[in-house]
Amino acid sequence: MEVVETVQEMQQICEAIRLAGETIALVPTMGFLHQGHLELMRVGRRHADKLIISIFVNPSQFGPGEDLDQYPRDREGDLEKARKVGVDLVFMPSAPEMYQEGYQTRVQLEKLPRHLCGLSRPGHFDGVATVVAKLFNITRPHIAVFGQKDYQQLTVISRMVMDLNMDIRIIGVPTIREPDGLAMSSRNSYLNPGERKSALSLKKSMDLALELFREGERRPGVIIDAVRSLISGHPFTEIDYVALCDPVTLDSVEVLGERNLLAMAVRVGKTRLIDNCLLQNGSDRDDHI
Ligand code: AMP
Repeated sequence: MEVVETVQEMQQICEAIRLAGETIALVPTMGFLHQGHLELMRVGRRHADKLIISIFVNPSQFGPGEDLDQYPRDREGDLEKARKVGVDLVFMPSAPEMYQEGYQTRVQLEKLPRHLCGLSRPGHFDGVATVVAKLFNITRPHIAVFGQKDYQQLTVISRMVMDLNMDIRIIGVPTIREPDGLAMSSRNSYLNPGERKSALSLKKSMDLALELFREGERRPGVIIDAVRSLISGHPFTEIDYVALCDPVTLDSVEVLGERNLLAMAVRVGKTRLIDNCLLQNGSDRDDHI
């Protein structure tokens, strides 16, 4: 496994892989790898000859007062995990390597960022789209793998790829959870034991919503109220949003249809957690793309 820190070297290596007739899968991450990330890598491994991951805590997707400086890092641990899962190349650029002096270009989507997390994190999805577009240009992948845990991000990337005619297949992987149901996240490391317990309320509230939907409830307000009150009954929680929306446009819905996305962001102590699931006829599964 090779670790590459410069854009130029990465581009040369990827050009050589393509010239040799081999395919490339890319898994972008911010590091502090957990089983969710590793699952994305296993999927990427199965779909291409060469598996590249990037580890880059992208400053342009963090807002003022967010956790850019505290974001957990573990270079050696990450490299060990990547090696074990069969990664061929790790791209680990510095921030100045990615954003050279005079940098001024951004990829901006019109509508998708005006929903869900985009409302409380202005500029976040433009930062994500921009860095992912850059990573695509640097590694020129045939396939790129993202988690459904960050559903809005996956939607934004899929739309960007379509809109800008990027010749890349985007694969979405269902959310990997801890045995008790908490969605895996690098940010779970911020939680103290009491907060960790309360964090389970997100999954519990989604189970409740699925049950109500299965029983025939189709009024978004009723489901949202039930979700909110279950979460609020747990200490340390502060709801940012709970939304029921169209899984493609992310517009909120007035009556539930065949496929509906239930998405939420909740602050547990100082940690902002997100989760989502699909409410759809005949299924209570998480895998929704
Ligand atoms: P991050 O390092 O948080 O930027 O995440 C990198 C990629 O891993 C993104 O595509 C995430 O959606 C995905 N990811 C993060 N957590 C999970 C999880 N629990 N299950 C599946 N994918 C995940």
